[in-house]
Amino acid sequence: MEIDRERVEKMGTVQRMEATGEYATAKIAVWWDMKDCPIPEDYEAGQVRSSLEAAFKEQGYSGPVSITAYGDQTQTPDHILKGLSSTGVSVAHTKSESTCHFMYEDLVKWRRLNPPPATNTMMIISDEVGDKFTWDLVRLQQRTLYKLFLAYSVKPEYMVLSVSEQWCWKKLLSSSPPAAAGVQQGGAKFYCKSCSYDSGYLKKFKKHLSSYSHAREEFVNPTDHKLVRYTEDWGRNYKATPEFATAKIHVWWDLSGCPIPEGYDARQVRPSIEAAVKELGYYGPVSITAYRDHKHTPLQALSSTGVDVAHTVSDVTYSLMFNDMLEWHRNNPPQTAALIMVISDNVEIMARRLVKLLQENNYNFFLAYSFRPYKMSYLLTSAEWLWESILSGEERLLQNCSSSSGSGDGQSTSRFYCRLCVGFITISIDKFRAHLSNEEHAQEENEIREHGEYHFVNERLCQLAEYDGDHLPRATI
Ligand SMILES: [Zn+2]
Ligand SMILES: [Zn+2]
Repeated sequence: MEIDRERVEKMGTVQRMEATGEYATAKIAVWWDMKDCPIPEDYEAGQVRSSLEAAFKEQGYSGPVSITAYGDQTQTPDHILKGLSSTGVSVAHTKSESTCHFMYEDLVKWRRLNPPPATNTMMIISDEVGDKFTWDLVRLQQRTLYKLFLAYSVKPEYMVLSVSEQWCWKKLLSSSPPAAAGVQQGGAKFYCKSCSYDSGYLKKFKKHLSSYSHAREEFVNPTDHKLVRYTEDWGRNYKATPEFATAKIHVWWDLSGCPIPEGYDARQVRPSIEAAVKELGYYGPVSITAYRDHKHTPLQALSSTGVDVAHTVSDVTYSLMFNDMLEWHRNNPPQTAALIMVISDNVEIMARRLVKLLQENNYNFFLAYSFRPYKMSYLLTSAEWLWESILSGEERLLQNCSSSSGSGDGQSTSRFYCRLCVGFITISIDKFRAHLSNEEHAQEENEIREHGEYHFVNERLCQLAEYDGDHLPRATI
């Protein structure tokens, strides 16, 4: 728990963590792009395995390592092919432009064949992780996080993926011992991905690569240079799995960006959200916190159904919201099945940080927005709604909830936070209103509006989101 907490707080940095428990002996699968990360001239092909194994051991991982080297193998000299296969490294021939496609296909297949609770570990050696693999892989990681290692010749600009360790390819090789002489590793194969052919023998493989049928297959089958995005159609609203059917749900609601539309009543919010998630089979307890400048909010109506109220100003809403999310995370350890729901048109502001929470914990994610985003995010959702459609669902139960409304004396079932004044919390609307209009609060708010450090934090988050929006690969809906 403590480690995990640290992980979240150090978000964006690589976690150098020694393997513990079952990870120490778990299987390790390596997919290696030989074109991006070639074997240096003065280096023996037979040393690659021992280099990788040494690097893993240093991290505390000593499980069996399977390695597949991808590339146009018609260009690879025989002594390299021999050196690889004699040390148990499989070789896969692909046309250069199809290498990523096949590597990624094999990686996804491997994940499917090694479902949780397997504690297996993956390594990708390639320069294309940032550009090509990330969008889909980061979504897969939100479903199931496998330990991931990376090596590259060119460091990726962006790393939204959760990575256990990363190396520069040349450094990784140079710091390792030579291959143990005479050690023969079995099991290595030669694959031709263009023809779905495989053989255990180099001679046969070479013969295949120069055969008429192989040439014909590569000609008629322009192979797949586009990466398949396996999660692209994961945008539906899914029925709850048994594990999540009674899991608790916390809702972070940007009330300023997604206000209550005209014609609806604040008292409809809770029953509407509850009804929307129940339709998908989620029956767990729902807690809701509404963020905005609350000086003019109909507090009575909102709080009468137990919606918590957090006062912020727009510059800092998302940093405060995310801080609260971390606080919530501390009370919901990684293995707890729980649901994070965000109601916002700007969730991308905290996407990079939120994605870590989703990768590293057993949380699922719901999103509601007033406008459908034009691109599919790398945040993996289990359900998405238009905000207004949640409220409009079957004239939701205003009569039911009005019976539970507050007694009118300023007391309610909700908590009121001033998130600008550290530690201010009350259950009395009157005290809350009084606080928002007192001098001390006004001073605090002014300071934050004018020079607050939060402003800087939020601005930075906005800039990051903007940059990611332009640079990170995404699927078009
Ligand atoms: Zn072939
Ligand atoms: Zn205050």
